[in-house]
Amino acid sequence: CVPDGERGLRGRVVLVTGAASGIGRAQVLRFLEEGARVVATDRDAGGLATLPGAGDGCLTVAADVTWREDVARLVGTAVESHGRIDVLSNTAGILDGFARSLDTSEELWERVFAVNVTAVFRLTNAVLPGMLAQGRGTVVNVASVASFVAGGGGAAYTASKHALLGYTRQLASDYGRRGIKVNAVCPGLVETGMTRERLAEPESRFMKAATAVPSGRYGQPDEIAAVAVFLAKPDSDFMQGAAVMVDGGLTIR
Ligand code: NAD
Repeated sequence: CVPDGERGLRGRVVLVTGAASGIGRAQVLRFLEEGARVVATDRDAGGLATLPGAGDGCLTVAADVTWREDVARLVGTAVESHGRIDVLSNTAGILDGFARSLDTSEELWERVFAVNVTAVFRLTNAVLPGMLAQGRGTVVNVASVASFVAGGGGAAYTASKHALLGYTRQLASDYGRRGIKVNAVCPGLVETGMTRERLAEPESRFMKAATAVPSGRYGQPDEIAAVAVFLAKPDSDFMQGAAVMVDGGLTIR
């Protein structure tokens, strides 16, 4: 019999970005169910306040992950409150309105990369030294089917999600032997704040894309959160640099 603390996440300190909505929010609920101590962060303070357990088992920190000072304050607050960070889930991300390259301003390109790539790099670098010092740590990056195929976003989004997967693999390669597990979950189309408006239009390309996949439907945030939590658990400890597709089969054909 293996004690829950060794196989599960009881007592582990988990930092989730993008926690106010969609896939991040669903992860917070699952991690809390697992008995983890969750630090939930988002730039949407109002959304964070509606998390069940906010201010109780779940510490909420309003922060914009593209701001250096916010990232430093966020990691400082988490470590001050819980002594360490065991799991980092980089979930915050933004879409680019499906803009083709010629319709993408440099400002939009930079905004998308700032959240989807640079913030992940910055936050990971802020958390990694503590993980390395304790000889153990897990990073879960929420990438996308757009890390593999075109059409899941516009030019900036698809490029950013390819970059995020590349970063995930390099991190795994560089730190795997030092006790750090790094993997990506790659969602297909999921009903969240990012997609809800488009999904509400029955004739939208979103809806058509959703029903064209082998599963015949779009996903729910909890179906992605379940895999993110698995990637955080010791059960997945032999997974390293993996990209786990959770896409209703979108990328198999
Ligand atoms: P969402 O819009 O519901 O949630 C994203 C959250 O990130 C929001 O709460 C938002 O406030 C937060 N956020 C955005 N920029 C931020 C910043 N600078 N600082 C702090 N917080 C910030 O969308 P979601 O679908 O739950 O997205 C979560 C992740 O899943 C994203 O990385 C997205 O690219 C990825 N993803 C989503 C889908 C989908 O179909 N919904 C598909 C593939 C990948």
